Amino acid sequence: MDFINIKGLKIYGYHGVLKEEKDEGQEFLIDAKLCFDMTNVGLLDELDSTVDYSKVSETIKETFLEKKYDLIETVAEVVAREILVNYAIVEEVYITIHKPHAPIPIDFDDVSVNIKRKWNQVYLGVGSNLGDRNKYIQDAIDSLTKDKYIKDVKCSTLIETKPYGNVEQGDFLNGVIELWTLMNPKELLNKLHEIESSAKRTREIHWGPRTLDLDILFYEEIVMSTNELTIPHADIENRLFVLEPLCELNSSLVNPKNNKTVNEMLIELRAR
Ligand code: ATP
Ligand code: CA
Ligand code: CA
Repeated sequence: MDFINIKGLKIYGYHGVLKEEKDEGQEFLIDAKLCFDMTNVGLLDELDSTVDYSKVSETIKETFLEKKYDLIETVAEVVAREILVNYAIVEEVYITIHKPHAPIPIDFDDVSVNIKRKWNQVYLGVGSNLGDRNKYIQDAIDSLTKDKYIKDVKCSTLIETKPYGNVEQGDFLNGVIELWTLMNPKELLNKLHEIESSAKRTREIHWGPRTLDLDILFYEEIVMSTNELTIPHADIENRLFVLEPLCELNSSLVNPKNNKTVNEMLIELRAR
């Protein structure tokens, strides 16, 4: 992909674990590689159609100086996110933070942290079968939309479904939400739990009635499983109430776990 490279921005900052580093500060050097499609920009020759590297440099400086952090890893993360949030045309960003005066007791040239960040496509399953189901779901969509690190939130048609599992309870409204986020999977799960809590979600019976349930179905092509989080969601291929709305949003989406498209999984499930 095409890119603009900003190299060696010199900024005097106050990041570091040591007290002296926060009090006295030191010089840092920052590189930013901004990746985006420049084919049209080249023809237009207009500043509005590209990324103004002078403005980006200002944004980097402001973000860099806003707070004192212990780690340059964190500084890199906030700088990368700030660029992606403020410059919509940038598809991917690489940030390098050099700390040539880091407290290392041996003579050295440089120590640096280098990260690459981009917006990530995510699909969420959403469901409600208690109270004002539509409102719980709409409020959840609003909370997601308002988050600085989430954009382009789109919801499928909501469908009325019979409860899954063996618990006697009211019918569900189910849907799928597509969004783009800068959060990592764990951070996003925490955000979903916060939204569920503000909808007064409780967990008394497994697969029991709930005001709001938000599950991460897919997060880009990530396949992972920890105690807290399994991605893709473990039960996608067995749930019509997930596959049907998902198919409406993106029928050709591929499940990285079995390499089947949403459409294929839906056809197979209907044929069972
Ligand atoms: P199911 O996950 O089978 O639809 P559920 O949604 O009713 O069941 P919850 O009680 O909402 O289950 O969630 C239990 C735990 O599942 C959560 O606290 C979370 O840590 C974990 N979990 C694992 N993978 C995911 C995922 N992909 N999305 C959301 N939660 C997940
Ligand atoms: Ca669920
Ligand atoms: Ca859940």
